[in-house]
Amino acid sequence: TPTLIWFRQDLRIHDNPALQAAIERGGSVIPVYLFDEAGEGDWRPGGASCWWLHHALQDLAAQLDKHGLRLILGIGQSASELKRLIAETGAGAVYWNRRYEPAVILRDAKIKEALTQRGLEAKSFNSALVFEPWEIKNQSGKPFQVFTPYWKHCLKRAIPAPVEVELKHAHAPRNWPATRALEELALLPRIAWDTGFFPFWTPTSAAAKQRLGKLAASHASGYTRNRDRPDMDGTSRLSPYLHFGQIGPREVFAAFARYDAEGTKGGRKFLSEIGWREFSYQLLYHFPHIPTEPLRAEFNHFPWEMDETLLSAWQKGLTGYPIVDAGMRQLWTTGWMHNRVRMIVASLLVKHLLVPWQEGARWFWDTLVDADLASNTQGWQWSAGCGADAAPYFRVFNPILQGQKFDPNGDYVREWIPELRPVATSIIHKPWEGGGEQLGGVVIGRDYPTPIIDHSRGRNRALQAYGKLKALR
Ligand code: FAD
Repeated sequence: TPTLIWFRQDLRIHDNPALQAAIERGGSVIPVYLFDEAGEGDWRPGGASCWWLHHALQDLAAQLDKHGLRLILGIGQSASELKRLIAETGAGAVYWNRRYEPAVILRDAKIKEALTQRGLEAKSFNSALVFEPWEIKNQSGKPFQVFTPYWKHCLKRAIPAPVEVELKHAHAPRNWPATRALEELALLPRIAWDTGFFPFWTPTSAAAKQRLGKLAASHASGYTRNRDRPDMDGTSRLSPYLHFGQIGPREVFAAFARYDAEGTKGGRKFLSEIGWREFSYQLLYHFPHIPTEPLRAEFNHFPWEMDETLLSAWQKGLTGYPIVDAGMRQLWTTGWMHNRVRMIVASLLVKHLLVPWQEGARWFWDTLVDADLASNTQGWQWSAGCGADAAPYFRVFNPILQGQKFDPNGDYVREWIPELRPVATSIIHKPWEGGGEQLGGVVIGRDYPTPIIDHSRGRNRALQAYGKLKALR
């Protein structure tokens, strides 16, 4: 009987254990993608993610086509769509690679049970992580909540090799089931806010491989030095590819091993970032409430001061802090923001502005092409000081000093905030302090806003709020 290979966040034909198992099973192989928004619970993919998904599906379909296979598309509840496809094709098995988001785990478990009860073979595999969340435990058998010991522990274990997929042995069915057209999934925006995405991204699996290959071949030598510099192309930009599974983390390790780069300084640092991704997934798996609630329960009582006007200024990149606004505009224009700047903008929102971290996480969810429930939750809880191994709440980033340190020439600010281009480098991160020639004709308050809150005042307000929380304990 045919096997349905149910693609999800594993949109690749290499290192895909479910696909390889389907091929090994013998019968014909029917690749399927189901756009099941309800199945994602409260975390339906945001606008930017949908953009990426459209292109990733197009790419996957083209790759499958080269091997005589078609990507069958469905829309609606996964359970009923699978049922329909099974009836239409006479499939005897459904294989897929696992996901770890709480709502998806529940949905998939039900599907597995229902399929098994009907006498079908339902099997799931690991393609998304190096180590599955339940594999790594500390000495007391509990999940790690501090990154360094977690990653040390992981690195003592053998890193699984990518799975070889033998597509030449894949058989196509005699008749293909009905499919929806990609356009029917309506993933692309109706208003063209995505024009800035195209010059920034090539959302194909081949592009991910190329970027990874280059990085590994260079032993990620510039990574340690440049990874905090948003004015440079100093990081891999692999995050959306990893999220959608156009490349897998085991392939990342294998590429570094191939070039003997795992042990170099840059290699170790880069692979430890993949470790943060793994760490985020194991946190989400063991603490499924964290996308909306703080891991450290005392933060449930934090005296946030929700303010729509402040939130909106932050979202639009109009806070008056150039490094923050540059980041928010980079995010809006390209669907991505540099990690250092993510930390700075998050700090400003949750500390200076006292807006709940969940609001920031939601905005990122809708605007990031790499929006990922595990990493986004971890990033926001880290920034708000309420997560595992988080930055302590009382450490408040100074957006001026951060800008001066990590964008020393102001190139990043000038790239994303055209109205500040004429401003002298000496004051580009605090233009409200400039005067005369330094401003090059720019009028602060007219051409670009004055700071939404004074840094010292914001810092003190944040510390007072934290003090109230501590007093409650
Ligand atoms: P590189 O530096 O090249 O890192 C390589 C890979 O390691 C990344 O592609 C990513 O998969 C992983 N990685 C790196 N840093 C982290 C980290 N801190 N946590 C988890 N994984 C990491 N990352 C997402 O993929 N999706 C998100 O939704 C997301 N939201 C974030 C929100 C906040 C507030 C913060 C502070 C960070 C967030 N991150 C998120 C983590 C990080 O910013 C991005 O993974 C990184 O900027 C992606 O760029 P890169 O691929 O060039 O990273």
